[in-house]
Amino acid sequence: MARFFRSSLLLTSFSAVLLAFTSWNTFGVSALSSGEDVIERDLCIIGGGSAGTYSAIRMRDQGKSVVVVEKKGRMGGHTETFTDPATGLTTDAGVIVFHNLTIATDYFARFNIPLTTRNVSMNAQYIDLRTGESVPYTPQDPTEAFAAYAAQLAKYPFLDTGFNLPDPVPEELLIPFRDFAAKYNLGPIMGTIWSISQGIGDLLSQPTLYVMKVFGKDILRSIQVGFLTTKNHDNSELYEKATAELGDDVLLNSHVIYTSREGAGVEVEVETPLGRKLIRAKKLLIAIPPKIENLQGFDLDETEREIFEQFSNNAYYTLVLKGSNIPPAVNNARADLPYLLPKLPDVYTVEKSEIPNYYHVKYGSPYEVSDEQVKQTVLTEVARLQDLESQHKGHDELEIAFYSNHSPTFLAFSPSAIADGFYDRLNGLQGHLNTFYTGATFETLDSTLIWRFTETILPRIFDER
Ligand SMILES: Cc1cc2nc3c(=O)[nH]c(=O)nc-3n(C[C@H](O)[C@H](O)[C@H](O)COP(=O)(O)OP(=O)(O)OC[C@H]3O[C@@H](n4cnc5c(N)ncnc54)[C@H](O)[C@@H]3O)c2cc1C
Repeated sequence: MARFFRSSLLLTSFSAVLLAFTSWNTFGVSALSSGEDVIERDLCIIGGGSAGTYSAIRMRDQGKSVVVVEKKGRMGGHTETFTDPATGLTTDAGVIVFHNLTIATDYFARFNIPLTTRNVSMNAQYIDLRTGESVPYTPQDPTEAFAAYAAQLAKYPFLDTGFNLPDPVPEELLIPFRDFAAKYNLGPIMGTIWSISQGIGDLLSQPTLYVMKVFGKDILRSIQVGFLTTKNHDNSELYEKATAELGDDVLLNSHVIYTSREGAGVEVEVETPLGRKLIRAKKLLIAIPPKIENLQGFDLDETEREIFEQFSNNAYYTLVLKGSNIPPAVNNARADLPYLLPKLPDVYTVEKSEIPNYYHVKYGSPYEVSDEQVKQTVLTEVARLQDLESQHKGHDELEIAFYSNHSPTFLAFSPSAIADGFYDRLNGLQGHLNTFYTGATFETLDSTLIWRFTETILPRIFDER
């Protein structure tokens, strides 16, 4: 198997080289040098998710011409919405909440999309989904633990936007969150941190830095004042409207074959459903997870390669199940493990959706697992819940109405790489080879904060000083 994998990798890179040479001659000049196959723009954006779409709209609003290259048939990335074919009702199955900050409210208002408040639900049942056993859970007053956590966060204001870490990186940010939580008695809020930080995998093993980024000041505030979500439970509307507005400036179902970034601008050759296109742009903005495997075709230099090779990632999967006799909100729990947290890979939560008889299930893993494994585990564990709910009188068939594999999620450096200054080196890539970067890897798993971070990058792109 490993050998097959290796040889298929070899084949892939060999065919990539062949592909590249079909339209690029040995001097690195594309054969697509003029006519309708050439697209000239100020900015070429790779990735039409949260960061890429926001960048495209903002740059166009500022009078710059853009083109977005998106590998899927839709924009939105992790924002996905399920529509019940029978009723037309919608429910968000990916990104759900935003912060009540003007950057988010202005963006939704620009597209005339109404928002409403959504609070964090704390009323889940705790059940060990491997056995169906109820796990005893007594909520504790979280006030002191929240105050202790907030006091620690306040020591690190540089975490508010991006990863502008001091040198040396404070030791406490590098210790596993397990130790940090024990030191500051965070027990009463560990369940809340865990449910909001889904996607970062094994919470207790993560360096405290990453937990503080994903569960930061803005999250603490939103827990108090409420998060925002779209009134129609259809966050994808934002991306549909943005796609319509961007029109021909979005190349869907398209991917990069070759880039050349050493001249005065960039050249990006792209495979699109209408054939190869050559994009000539002044600058490139990369808004995709910068893992080496995801940057096939890019002319990465050694500096870039060395940094991107350091990234590991987690895996995150979402499902919408149709069924009955399922409790409205369940946290997967383990009585034998610290803070009752389940061991991943496994289901995080099962929760009733806004559509009758449809339930959201979230599944996480510190490494990528097969779609089949995710689906099988989810069906088995939720059927166990149905048995429990019906008091073992049997259960209806469960149907997977929607499934999405969001991997890779959460690109992270090891604590030693963080200590060795890899975030400084990553930040140093902004502008290198006419290329800029934005997205979750540069901020955290949080759309509103990614937009805020993006606002710090966009002005730099055409700053000639
Ligand atoms: C299931 C789930 C739920 C979440 N819920 C929330 C939430 O409620 N609130 C919140 O604020 N955040 C949430 N997040 C965090 C989320 O990651 C960010 O909010 C945001 O979506 C990340 O934006 P991004 O632009 O970096 O990545 P994405 O939104 O993933 O966008 C990346 C885009 O690039 C495309 N792409 C990838 N590789 C290539 C390539 N090689 N070529 C071309 N295109 C490519 C992808 O198809 C995608 O469209 C959630 C994440 C997940 C996975």
